Amino acid sequence: MNFILASSNKHKLEELRLLMPDVEIQEANMVEVDENAPTFLGNALIKAEALYKISGGTPVLADDSGLCVKAFDGKPGVRTARYGSEEMGRILESEERNEYLLKNMENIDDRDASFVCSLVAYFSPTRIYTVTEEVQGKIMREQAGCGGFGYDPVFYINEAGTTAAELTDTEKGKYSHRGKAARVMNELLKNIK
Ligand code: IMP
Repeated sequence: MNFILASSNKHKLEELRLLMPDVEIQEANMVEVDENAPTFLGNALIKAEALYKISGGTPVLADDSGLCVKAFDGKPGVRTARYGSEEMGRILESEERNEYLLKNMENIDDRDASFVCSLVAYFSPTRIYTVTEEVQGKIMREQAGCGGFGYDPVFYINEAGTTAAELTDTEKGKYSHRGKAARVMNELLKNIK
């Protein structure tokens, strides 16, 4: 089974290839889309549909993920990639965005948070498989670890007992939002023709 990935994030591509070894996932020239849906699944569908329209019929895999901080009523949520950009007037690099989050949480004791991943396997407008999963964790007081990407150095995974950035890619996949979603998607894909 072949998919093209509706993302220009190389880290997602690498993680998904590791997590979904029974399918082929190719890079694609991702089109610009307005990710304006109120849910992760809605945004994953927007990305999948947009790429499918120009894919010539090749199935599309889409991933939309984000961080939900309890003390911020679930924010940044679907705006995770743009967190801090309104205040700073530009999209922040991962490291400064992590520092921005730590600063905003400086005086907050409740560190609970979750990371969510919606995965969409889009075969056609009438044949779409979706999975949404999450992993529970906490926001660190400082960055730790240099693996992974994005918020991994500030996101402590409860079940792992460490930040996602302190894990190898294989270990991260065992616990992560994306790992959980990919395992369900693998089972789904095994059962379809
Ligand atoms: P999007 O799903 O491409 O919109 O990405 C949402 C934001 O979450 C981006 O800023 C990513 O860097 C970040 N992100 C997505 N997945 C992960 C992850 O597995 N670990 C840490 N950050 C992530």
